[in-house]
Amino acid sequence: MTRYASPGSDGAIVSYRPRYDHWIGGRYVPPARGEYFENPSPVDGRPFTEIARGTADDVEAALDAAHAAAPAWGRTSAGDRAGILLKIADRMEAHLEELAVAESWENGKPVRETLAADIPLAIDHFRYFAGALRAQEGSLSELDDDTIAYHFHEPLGVVGQIIPWNFPILMATWKLAPALAAGNAVVLKPAEQTPASIHFWLSLVADLLPDGVVNIVNGFGVEAGKPLASSPRVAKIAFTGETTTGRLIMQYASENIKPVTLELGGKSPNIFFDDVWAADDDLRDKALEGFTMFALNQGEVCTCPSRALIQRGHYSEFLEAAIARTEKIVPGHPLDTDTMIGAQASNDQLQKILSYLDIGQQEGAKILTGGQRIEHDGELAGGYYVQPTIFEGDNRMRVFQEEIFGPVVAVTSFSDFDDAIKTANDTLYGLGAGVWTRDINTAYRAGRAIQAGRVWTNCYHAYPAHAAFGGYKQSGIGRENHRMMLEHYQQTKNLLVSYSPKKL
Ligand code: NAD
Repeated sequence: MTRYASPGSDGAIVSYRPRYDHWIGGRYVPPARGEYFENPSPVDGRPFTEIARGTADDVEAALDAAHAAAPAWGRTSAGDRAGILLKIADRMEAHLEELAVAESWENGKPVRETLAADIPLAIDHFRYFAGALRAQEGSLSELDDDTIAYHFHEPLGVVGQIIPWNFPILMATWKLAPALAAGNAVVLKPAEQTPASIHFWLSLVADLLPDGVVNIVNGFGVEAGKPLASSPRVAKIAFTGETTTGRLIMQYASENIKPVTLELGGKSPNIFFDDVWAADDDLRDKALEGFTMFALNQGEVCTCPSRALIQRGHYSEFLEAAIARTEKIVPGHPLDTDTMIGAQASNDQLQKILSYLDIGQQEGAKILTGGQRIEHDGELAGGYYVQPTIFEGDNRMRVFQEEIFGPVVAVTSFSDFDDAIKTANDTLYGLGAGVWTRDINTAYRAGRAIQAGRVWTNCYHAYPAHAAFGGYKQSGIGRENHRMMLEHYQQTKNLLVSYSPKKL
């Protein structure tokens, strides 16, 4: 077991600045209105830095800087841009532990996850898009002997990006890596709950980027996010967050006919067919582990497998083993490498989860384990901790239909394949799903029938850079990851050229 020292204490490998201004044009710029807000750590509920409170004027200043930088950045060669992304990845790898601790301290997630997943995935994302850019090719259509249609990829110019608090560095990376690779300059607004870890990341890599190519405006949704999404000076808005906010973002962007990509909420089904239980082997064990993934990242994952559908033949045995497995999830200090579940990211989020624990019981769902806030003593007193919780009920209940975004799973049973698919698709959302079976035909047919952008089969919560990720239905528009993402940040230019001397 390793216990990293808390930022600001003796032996800490991370120290934050006491205050973060906006990062505009390659330097820190104070907010136009001179206002700041406090940023508490969910680990103990105490503020550790203060953050500039951005408004429309700050967004304008960032857009000025981005527009000044965009033309030159867009003209750099693919090789040069890819080289910079690779250097960013190398720099992050050299500082992996600091980044992991910074992310855990601000978000509350266990450092075992940030060390093994969040930061390595972010590093790989920069490497992947460096490679994808080098491998991208235009196309040429030969219309006849003398007439050619050429297709070129061009950067959009300046893009706006708005991200949530659940994976601050990884979400920033999902947005920045493809946008920069494609040759765009960016104005990014982090979530108000978690801006500091992005500034910490920036402090490690800022010297690798030309001034103005990446600009960060801090602040709240309506004050800083809305002017960015409403601006006629952005060529695109990329947003990750709640479905209700996504609807607003589309409205703002529609005023100027700007394209949007939206990565929104989910209520993902995790489906366990009877045959998974048939043998006491690795797949059975893996499926039980897959069940407990609802508590990964404290359940603050858009693809949280928050609905478990278990086939009736082995429902009781499976659920009993799943409860036992859930009760082995170790709560504790997020900076302790043994901790498996840390703190919820904010007090608002904690209160929202606690309210759903009440709502579930009021509507008749039964709590099988958990159901309480965890009140730690000492250093963690004042932090935002909740027990992993299993509800049993039916799919029409609110705890089955509404995104709780906490370590809460709602379990129900199903009779056969058609019943499983009907229940799985009985949701507004369509982001992720899990299918667990030994039968390849069942796996294939379920994977195709579930209306979700990502269906994991006999696995869950894997996020490789080269697999397309995004939502059906109200879970979003567009995809992230995969080289197809480059095209979301590019215009297609078609040159239709006649080489014929003949008259028209
Ligand atoms: P949120 O919508 O409240 O906030 C997201 C971002 O939008 C923040 O930066 C916020 O300041 C900004 N914002 C809020 N109101 C705004 C407005 N009116 N105009 C412009 N910007 C505004 O979401 P959240 O609570 O930070 O994040 C959790 C949500 O994100 C969950 O619903 C989760 O499912 C979703 N999410 C989706 C994915 C995905 O890839 N689909 C990934 C992670 C999180």
